[in-house]
Amino acid sequence: MGNHEKLTLSIQIEVLQFNLMRMRAVAWTLIYVSAIITVIHYGEVFFTKTEREMVPAYIGIHIILFYIDLAVLLFVKEKRIKVTTFNLRKYEFILLAYIYTILVLITVITVMDIYFFKHAALYEVLFLIICTFFSLPFRKIFWIMLITVPPLVISAYLSVGISGESIKIFLPMSLIIPMGLIIQRHTFKIKRQFTKQHILLQEEMTKSKNLSKLLAEKNNELSEQVLRDTLTNLPNRRAFNNKLTQIGQQLSKPKSLSVMMIDIDFFKNLNDYYGHLQGDEALIKVATLLDEIAAKYNAFAARWGGEEFVIVSQHAAKFSEHVCEEILEEVRNLNIRHERSEVADILTVSIGMCHAKISNIEQLKACCVLADEALFTAKQNGRNNFFSKNEISLKTYDYLYNVRKR
Ligand code: GH3
Ligand code: MG
Ligand code: MG
Repeated sequence: MGNHEKLTLSIQIEVLQFNLMRMRAVAWTLIYVSAIITVIHYGEVFFTKTEREMVPAYIGIHIILFYIDLAVLLFVKEKRIKVTTFNLRKYEFILLAYIYTILVLITVITVMDIYFFKHAALYEVLFLIICTFFSLPFRKIFWIMLITVPPLVISAYLSVGISGESIKIFLPMSLIIPMGLIIQRHTFKIKRQFTKQHILLQEEMTKSKNLSKLLAEKNNELSEQVLRDTLTNLPNRRAFNNKLTQIGQQLSKPKSLSVMMIDIDFFKNLNDYYGHLQGDEALIKVATLLDEIAAKYNAFAARWGGEEFVIVSQHAAKFSEHVCEEILEEVRNLNIRHERSEVADILTVSIGMCHAKISNIEQLKACCVLADEALFTAKQNGRNNFFSKNEISLKTYDYLYNVRKR
């Protein structure tokens, strides 16, 4: 199906859905009218005790009208009716059947009635309501007009004849029919135009919604990438800084924290001896291991830069020391050959750790500085070990941090 046909079909569906809801409004109006007419009529017969001509048939038709409208109100409900490509014809048929039936029934009682003008007026009001309320193509209304108007004219002629008086009444009344047709033409055109624009707008909105979604996804992907180290896929220095800021913002009361700086021993020698590609592979292996250990202890690992990594955890000092030991051992267990290391013939790391209770972001940064200093000590102590600076008072931190800043 081409785009144009699709659009035409969508317009048909929307307009029909609209008409079906309008059908309920018309049914509500008519149900009141036929109920009131029936009551008035019976009342008139009852109180005046006069038998009017053709009462049963005339009332019968009003009762039929009443039930048709009742059926419409019961079965045509917005929640229940959903016009689709498959039921389009069925609902179109129901709508036209309803409109044609009520107009034909009104024509019949008009023709039957001796008070002709009263019902001819009802027919015209109904015709006008249908023309203004429903968005139907002109020809659909034209057909029902062709069927119903001639009997009305003949009946008018038979009951009142052609006299000056009857022409005076009949002429203005007959103007309603073409007026209705003109209104009909316009309502249909406007409704179609409006629906078309509505559908196009909706399509545009869906498109732009999808685009925004895609953009948001790409944005997320991009910000993820910006925060990842390309070689090891660990969070990078920027992500680590973000993490520090986040921890700092969440500090409502002093918090116990450990920062571990991990540096590969004699890594330059490994690069020189085995080449940078092998060096990269070793970096990836160590990074993966650190990430796993951090995940196990609910800690955060990042690549600090070069062959240095950092882990922040929220455990007690003793526990963090145990984690350091585990890291040293697991790195050795990786069994990465390193002939040019002065520590062993496999790759090892040194760790500097700082554990403290911190209460602001400056202290947190000072903790990182101290961990770095602890790393230096670990290196001096012979590498392949860890050194920790624990239980340092906050005052010392502040002092150290300020000295460093100067
Ligand atoms: P130490 O035991 O004192 O830490 O000695 P080291 O050789 O590890 O120390 P140094 O800081 O002098 O060397 C770090 C080396 O890490 C230097 C650099 O070539 C290497 N490096 C940094 N980033 C990368 C990387 O992404 N890939 C590779 N292959 N090497 C890297
Ligand atoms: Mg280094
Ligand atoms: Mg090193």
